Amino acid sequence: MDNGLKTRELEPAAALACERLHGVRSRIEAALRQAGRAPDSVTLLAVSKTFDAAAVRGMAACGQRVFGENYLQEAEEKIAALADLPLEWHFIGPIQSNKTRPIAEGFAWVHSVDRLKIAERLSAQRPPTLPPLSVCIEVNVSGEASKGGVAPAELLGLAEAVGKLPGLALRGLMAIPAPETDPVAQRAAFRRVRDLFDDLVARGHALDTLSMGMSADLEAAILEGATLVRVGSALFGSRKIQHA
Ligand SMILES: *Cc1c(COP(=O)(O)O)cnc(C)c1O
Repeated sequence: MDNGLKTRELEPAAALACERLHGVRSRIEAALRQAGRAPDSVTLLAVSKTFDAAAVRGMAACGQRVFGENYLQEAEEKIAALADLPLEWHFIGPIQSNKTRPIAEGFAWVHSVDRLKIAERLSAQRPPTLPPLSVCIEVNVSGEASKGGVAPAELLGLAEAVGKLPGLALRGLMAIPAPETDPVAQRAAFRRVRDLFDDLVARGHALDTLSMGMSADLEAAILEGATLVRVGSALFGSRKIQHA
């Protein structure tokens, strides 16, 4: 999308937001061209954690509609403050089992499902008036003990069970591979996620979402088939607040 004309009429902070958004969209388009993929085949999820509602409103004014949050309480405040805008909210952080209800009620998507108990609670607590909650299973392809995500060996069983829950729509996989600066190593990790995704599709799961790639490695992810990239700092600037 070209916001060139509009950008010049905006305040400096807003103009910077639109410039960053335009820059990230250009990176996505270039990677899609390099991969020989269709121009609109990647969704940009703007990760707004630690940035306030005004920053999200500014990004929305540039044309961004889909936002991701990691921390429930922080997300709830922003969602309430921005209820006048037609935004789509994705939950991408670790989920405690006593926090599933507000997530099931307040979000369109959850990317970080990694155990059945959480999936069952989200399904049971999804209001019947809403469409099923779109979910991705988070898979831990780098084997980092400290990170969330199901081990690849456990993925098939979890996907079978999650796929049967009536309140959820299993859409695909999410991964946060260990950070690598070498693009070859980045691609190898994303390739492992892609192989797991292809295996589930071959087994009959109707998946359409491969949620992988962030500010530093979105090109590698797109080259390996990402359909959704989760981008924070390249859009909002570096995060000053660090959560535990
Ligand atoms: C913070 C975060 C992102 C965005 O990371 P950046 O490097 O700022 O683009 C993406 N996905 C998850 C799960 C995150 O927690």
